[in-house]
Amino acid sequence: MPIRKRRQSPPKFTNYRNYRPYLRIDCLYSCAYCEIFETELNGEYSFHIDHYWPKSVHRFAGLKNVYSNLLYTCETCNSIFKKAFFPSVIERLAGKIVLNPFKHDVDAHIDRSKPEWKSKDPFGQFNIELFHLDSFRNCRKRSLRIQSQRMLKNSILDLRRIEDDIRKARGAGRRDLVFRLKTARNECLEVISDAKWLLGRKHGKEDFRR
Ligand SMILES: [Zn+2]
Repeated sequence: MPIRKRRQSPPKFTNYRNYRPYLRIDCLYSCAYCEIFETELNGEYSFHIDHYWPKSVHRFAGLKNVYSNLLYTCETCNSIFKKAFFPSVIERLAGKIVLNPFKHDVDAHIDRSKPEWKSKDPFGQFNIELFHLDSFRNCRKRSLRIQSQRMLKNSILDLRRIEDDIRKARGAGRRDLVFRLKTARNECLEVISDAKWLLGRKHGKEDFRR
């Protein structure tokens, strides 16, 4: 994924918390650092607004309510790992820069093609260590996400095949196919429901068929 663009154009607020609904959308309902989704934690309430340039540092105080300085992040990345970190000049030269998906091409520094993320350079390594991006928890969630996406893709392909068959069929054969379509649709919904349950462990299993 190249450098992300902010697509929301919120009005100017004097309280940064008002940007939250816009940030959620721009950050795709996921943490800007570890990319965990709301549905993989306890929903929206597990997420914070991070100030890329920390608001507690006097020289960045003017950026407190500036939308481009805000990121939607999980509480762990924000409160436990990043906190008020900002690198000194020497640290920056050593690769200690927090990768911001709206400023940096994260894929140039971290290989994210597999559930286990690997650094490509010192910048990537620094971020993997700072945010524990290769922790068991993160790798497991990514793996489950990929597995669910694959199952869903297969279910959708099944649905399309049956729809094509129905278009061509006549009489009793058509009725059988409509029945198969309904069954496949329910299986598809089951996959979505299971994925939500697997990824957001504390959410109950939802029945989307009602
Ligand atoms: Zn995170």
